[in-house]
Amino acid sequence: MSGLTAPPPPPAELRGRLASGAVWGQGCAVIVGSARFVGNRGLTRATPVPLASRNERAYTDTASPSRMDCRRCGTPLEKPGDYCLVCNTANADAVVAEFDVDRAELTMLAEDEVVGHTTITTRPERDEQLTAVQLRNFAGRVADEIRRKRPDTVYAAGDRDPLREARAQLHHEFYRVPEAGDDDDGDVVGWVLDRRGDRALEVVETPPREKIGGAHSTLIGGRKGRKAVSTVADHPHVKKIVPGPIDAGGTGSRTGLRAKATRAGTNGNVRLLLRDGSSVQENRIVTTAMDRETGERVRADLNDALAEAGLREE
Ligand SMILES: [Zn+2]
Repeated sequence: MSGLTAPPPPPAELRGRLASGAVWGQGCAVIVGSARFVGNRGLTRATPVPLASRNERAYTDTASPSRMDCRRCGTPLEKPGDYCLVCNTANADAVVAEFDVDRAELTMLAEDEVVGHTTITTRPERDEQLTAVQLRNFAGRVADEIRRKRPDTVYAAGDRDPLREARAQLHHEFYRVPEAGDDDDGDVVGWVLDRRGDRALEVVETPPREKIGGAHSTLIGGRKGRKAVSTVADHPHVKKIVPGPIDAGGTGSRTGLRAKATRAGTNGNVRLLLRDGSSVQENRIVTTAMDRETGERVRADLNDALAEAGLREE
């Protein structure tokens, strides 16, 4: 079939389910996404977003193992894991967002239980890349879905561009699941569940600017050095950054600041290594992690943030 022919008619069992205004063919992503649940009690909602809405190419499809009522007051929730506005109670404390170039899979968690699942799809127009506007709208729809849950924590994995954009639009505690977390079987949700212990990492409320202290307040690298330190200070699990002495006798010849968070110690603290030409500065980062394993999570997160800021040392 050539790309110019009309899209095939919807399957008979779906015709009655197409919301008015949804155009078969253009909105097919959501139909394909929900078809798996047709005839299944699990179909709770399939909402083709009207094409005139602010993102004409993103669609949201929510399905879950069962309908969900508020855990506290029993009010039926519009979508599983929604925050209950009747009794002001969160029904999901974490959301796992897995980004792909054309979709985001959201999984809502209440402690160690999966309470809901939502897929948001979009269509890259060319070369499998989203345009800047598509990217912003796609990430905006993901952010909207996450906000209505009011989770404590967002875990995100996958395609960097929409992930970064969604992170920029949200003000939640935000963890990036390291790539090593899903290299075996791609089970990001499983990885998150494995690591959600009883003792979540404490979040530091100190403004980033006030986290920087110590006797050696001089930083190498000028403006970029300060940017590296403030990037680290922005992290919610960083308590304090103590700039260290500067070693100017190195053999490095590359110019331009490069930064790297290095291996966590047994106390969960990490180091921020700055290099600029032959100068090296090792700065201490005090985190809320209490052991090496959780410190390594913070370290991976910091290196991703430094990479995004264009400061990461290879
Ligand atoms: Zn309630």
